[in-house]
Amino acid sequence: MEAAEAVIRAGLLRLGGSVLEQLLAADRGHRGPRVPCGRGHEAVFVSYRDKVIDTVLGPVALTRAWYHCAACGHGLAPRDAELGVAEEGMSPGLAAMNDRAAAAVPFKGAAGLLEDLAGVRLTAKRVERAAEASGAGLAAAGRERARLIAARKLAPLPPSPLPDKLYAVIDGTGVPVTSKETAGRDGKGEDGRARTREVKLAVFFTQDKLDSGGYPVRDRDSSSVIATFEPAAVFGDLVKAEGIRRGADHVRQLTIIGDGAAWIWGIAAAKFPEATQVVDLFHAREHLHDLARRLEFMLLDRKEEWLAARLEDLDYGYIDGIVAATRKYPLTGVKKDEIDTALGYFENNAPRMRYHWFRQCGLFTGSGVVEASCKSLIGQRLKQSGMHWTVSGADAIIALRCREASSTWEAICNTPHTQTRTA
Ligand SMILES: [Zn+2]
Repeated sequence: MEAAEAVIRAGLLRLGGSVLEQLLAADRGHRGPRVPCGRGHEAVFVSYRDKVIDTVLGPVALTRAWYHCAACGHGLAPRDAELGVAEEGMSPGLAAMNDRAAAAVPFKGAAGLLEDLAGVRLTAKRVERAAEASGAGLAAAGRERARLIAARKLAPLPPSPLPDKLYAVIDGTGVPVTSKETAGRDGKGEDGRARTREVKLAVFFTQDKLDSGGYPVRDRDSSSVIATFEPAAVFGDLVKAEGIRRGADHVRQLTIIGDGAAWIWGIAAAKFPEATQVVDLFHAREHLHDLARRLEFMLLDRKEEWLAARLEDLDYGYIDGIVAATRKYPLTGVKKDEIDTALGYFENNAPRMRYHWFRQCGLFTGSGVVEASCKSLIGQRLKQSGMHWTVSGADAIIALRCREASSTWEAICNTPHTQTRTA
């Protein structure tokens, strides 16, 4: 049976390929003696040229009119652009398959998946080049959209129906890169050299309902994700644009969740001063465990009891209680500095840790969304052992993964007449 399946599929693919080839042959792509070259000149018809494009039905030969521009010395085939066949020579259908495979697994594995599942043979290098070209295009389109929104040339209509609460979870994580990409940057390694570059990430989602226990439930398929290697200032503009696109100006409650890093609150304050800021509860708990460890030499066998009481304080948002219970132990020197730093995290973030109040308002106080998005979106694909990325390569693959994590929302939102109008 398996052998028969494989043989029949191969035959059908060949048959399909020749049908597609005949279909394409109906238009030879002659668009008159001259066409615009795309850089302000006119290109002149030269001859008909053949090109083989890879499709989901296998390689297909295409004969189309070829034009040449004397002024800039480059040639083009208008038909290629019309068909959406990029320089990589992949049909749009195959490019979409290739994007999905390369976003999910390393390039060699992606080539294997495409061969086993789709019966299409590509080299790992080809998979990589095509996926990076798609991802780079996607990232550029996202930046352009953000630029238009910021310049008020594109005014997204508020989502309909309007969600009650919109969240933005913001985080950063390191991606291992080649040594060229970290030249001149200080790192945490023993030799002081950086081995990673930070990618900043924002996950937007909405929430309308509480479950039977009174806990907020994330609206299904409401996530959209943006990410970039650019510095916080540039990332902030992207976050602002995505927030506007998601209706931040219209929802009743906008909440920004972060791990406590100062740059996150800098962006929140500058871009969305009206938003409620929340430190992810799981991160705050980790910091409390860390504080207890630092005090262990004083607490001795009361450590567990002390920690349990402080976790309860934290759950209530009673930061003064945590500070008082820690300051009870008079310390000096290095130990005091250590504790001051550890307590500073709580003192500086106290308004963002009013967990009892946030819960009463039916808000998420950290649901592991921060960790989950970084681990699954970035870690699973980009932080595998032995991986060293170029920033542009990683940026492209992250763009593809962000699109997949946002898929349903993007599908709705990219229908131009329902969501956006030009100002
Ligand atoms: Zn030209």
